Amino acid sequence: MSLSGAYDPANIFAKILRGEAPCAKVFEDDVALAFMDVFPQTAGHTLVIPKVACRTILDFPPDAFGAYMARVQRVAQAVEKAFAPDGVMLIQLNGAPAGQTVFHFHFHILPRREGEAMKGHGKAGMADMAALNAQAAQIAAAL
Ligand code: AMP
Repeated sequence: MSLSGAYDPANIFAKILRGEAPCAKVFEDDVALAFMDVFPQTAGHTLVIPKVACRTILDFPPDAFGAYMARVQRVAQAVEKAFAPDGVMLIQLNGAPAGQTVFHFHFHILPRREGEAMKGHGKAGMADMAALNAQAAQIAAAL
């Protein structure tokens, strides 16, 4: 998928936003939705998606950045509080050659621990939904 193109309202994150697909929800307000990645690259891998329908950072409306990034930071702080990792990694991919697989703009938040390898993007197995819901509740409690 190229960087340019029309937003596809049938993408999985759009379905999650509309409540047509499930997610292990961490946080939601009028600006953003945060939920657990179902193919976690590290334990606690969380996604924060804006409610604005856009594909990448390139078509995201600049005046919406501040409010969205404040949510990303708030969730990252809660992830740190919930899991006490040694590091917190943020990833944001644009376009298929960059590794983007879901074309609704988002940030990944990945807790990193000393000596613990991260699974490759697209190489992680599917997590158990009950375990993800438990992690989501832990982060939500730390918000
Ligand atoms: P990206 O490749 O940067 O577009 O990231 C998309 C992320 O969404 C990947 O890490 C996937 O594991 C994750 N993902 C795909 N489908 C779902 C889903 N239904 N619920 C939660 N995470 C998902």
